[in-house]
Amino acid sequence: MTIIVTGGAGFIGSALVRRLIAAGENVVTLDCLTYAGHLLSLGDALEAGNHSFERVDIRDADAVRDIFARHKPHAVMHLAAESHVDRSIDSPMDFVSTNVTGTVVMLQAAQEYWASLDAAAKEGFRFLHVSTDEVYGSLGAEGVFTEDTPYQPNSPYSASKAASDHFARAWHRTFGLPVLISHCSNNYGPYQMPEKLIPVIILAGLEGRDMPVYGTGENVRDWLHVEDHVAALELILRNGASGGTYNVGADAETTNIDMVRTICACLDELLPDSWHRPHDQLIRFVTDRPGHDLRYAIDSSRVRDELGWRPARALEQGLKATVAWYLENRWWWQSIREGGFEDKRQGLRTAV
Ligand code: NAD
Repeated sequence: MTIIVTGGAGFIGSALVRRLIAAGENVVTLDCLTYAGHLLSLGDALEAGNHSFERVDIRDADAVRDIFARHKPHAVMHLAAESHVDRSIDSPMDFVSTNVTGTVVMLQAAQEYWASLDAAAKEGFRFLHVSTDEVYGSLGAEGVFTEDTPYQPNSPYSASKAASDHFARAWHRTFGLPVLISHCSNNYGPYQMPEKLIPVIILAGLEGRDMPVYGTGENVRDWLHVEDHVAALELILRNGASGGTYNVGADAETTNIDMVRTICACLDELLPDSWHRPHDQLIRFVTDRPGHDLRYAIDSSRVRDELGWRPARALEQGLKATVAWYLENRWWWQSIREGGFEDKRQGLRTAV
């Protein structure tokens, strides 16, 4: 099977490409390499005989159409996006442009290509649009997001993802394109950009810098290991019902402050000679993110019951392995910094 993976040089996309390459699929990574895209993250998959890389912006309709014509895919897994909520507060138009317009360009090109296929190829074709549980808004102390929870996005990021979901659904209903949509909770694991909570805390601990925790740290996230997530995406692509929506989460809710303390405990254990022990002395509470959603929790019974997906890692085990990965793979995040990436606080603007 030939699969186009958009955003394949990003955090989740690269884990997906590595998995699909190992499974022997022909993978076309389509990515324009923003600050968040790094070919280094593909490892050996980059040079594999069954992998090709196309440096293309998903907003460039002619270039995207050309990719479909040349590679003749059986499926598209669409992950390319601007993904950082804080950046969406500072630069919302970038999120509208890539996440909304870029998704519509992908859908339009896929639909034109799909319409040219014979009946059997049309039947087998799939377009998996990868979205987030943040489109459902924020939960109080109780409850979980199901696939039927009404949309109520609160940040420019989640609003742009919500809009893109509606376009994906519309391309299924109006044009018959075999679209699937997945909504996952917060991912963690190797190769995540050092601007997201977990790598920010790990690197601060390693370097003896302040560990910024937004607000009181009581916000709750439902953590999913990236490799468990991409296993779910593969199952959804292969066995999901055309037009179906699937929530993916690992039932691993924790407050941000508990997460940070657990990372500190992992650092204490993995770095017994560090001058910065105990690492939790580095925790600092900082100004909260404007509009910070209180709690996310996901009901993933559909993907479990209908497709047989199960997460393979418990949170504590996955987290410890992730901390160890950042300690052992300094070359990866150092090369990102050397490329000009600066981990500075973003998203404090309250008026656009
Ligand atoms: P990421 O920011 O790590 O990677 C995004 C990738 O998309 C990068 O490689 C970047 O170069 C590429 N890209 C951005 N704009 C592009 C454009 N205009 N044209 C081509 N490529 C472009 O993101 P991620 O964390 O891997 O997230 C992947 C997808 O999963 C996104 O759609 C995101 O909304 C969704 N998601 C992520 C999480 C999470 O916890 N990380 C949770 C839920 C949903």
